[in-house]
Amino acid sequence: MAVLDKFALNGKVAVVTGGNRGLGRAFAHALGEAGATVAILARDADKSAEVVAELEERGVKSRAFQGDVSIRGSVSEAADDIRSAFGRVDVLVNNAGICTHRPALEVTEQEWSDVINVNLTGVWNGCQVFGEQMVAAGEGVIVNIGSMSGDIVNRPQWQPAYNASKAAVHHLTKSLAAEWAPMGVRVNAVAPGYVRTEMTPIDRPEFKSRWIDDTPQLRAATPEEIAPSVVFLASEASSYMTGSVLTIDGGYTVF
Ligand code: NDP
Repeated sequence: MAVLDKFALNGKVAVVTGGNRGLGRAFAHALGEAGATVAILARDADKSAEVVAELEERGVKSRAFQGDVSIRGSVSEAADDIRSAFGRVDVLVNNAGICTHRPALEVTEQEWSDVINVNLTGVWNGCQVFGEQMVAAGEGVIVNIGSMSGDIVNRPQWQPAYNASKAAVHHLTKSLAAEWAPMGVRVNAVAPGYVRTEMTPIDRPEFKSRWIDDTPQLRAATPEEIAPSVVFLASEASSYMTGSVLTIDGGYTVF
């Protein structure tokens, strides 16, 4: 097989949680461009419909499914609907996530639970619900979106719940990779650095010295710069990779 053909996802069905904006939208576009049919799973149906319209305009078969990743029943229901619509799921990108900046002693019980429920339990829900179908099929690929915050502590803002949730996502990725490799299912993660999205206010002056000046490449990424790595991990191009956490951070974590 020609090397670039190994990145193709023709005939595959990919689910992207949080695929209606930011990084998830870029992942949906990239996976679709590589040939996959794309299911977007997020809460805001109008925003998801906008991305589906963009994808269809580019000739990508796509549909939105409304759901909250932190609620197991909601993920199960969406998974049933996706299977009814497209027959199966080959690729799951667990991308949905939230972040709160707050010093540890000021984090409320609600903020802690919200972040852990979406970022960690949401990934767990996706992995277990779609993983069951993949293990039964004897094939499938999961790409979890972690963060460099799972490996380092960001500054100047404090975000203890987020950092802990992303470290847990990285280790959950390795745990499932080990367990499901013999069953034909690969599980990897991407750990982005600072990326220009609604979650990350790159242009606020108080963050520049730490976020931008401390990044060797001296800038934040665009979502489109992270997306090709998701295609790589979703495709045959990474056939001997599982349990890996791929850092894409403009060099931030070298210091
Ligand atoms: P955005 O805030 O731009 O988008 C978040 C997405 O998650 C939205 O599509 C949102 O859709 C969805 N979402 C949030 N909560 C839920 C939920 N409970 N159920 C379903 N979907 C949900 O964030 P980014 O694009 O920046 O982040 C995407 C991922 O990348 C996150 O996991 C984040 O932690 C990670 N990341 C981001 C970095 C960055 O600098 N931007 C750096 C490193 C990692 P809706 O509201 O409609 O549900």
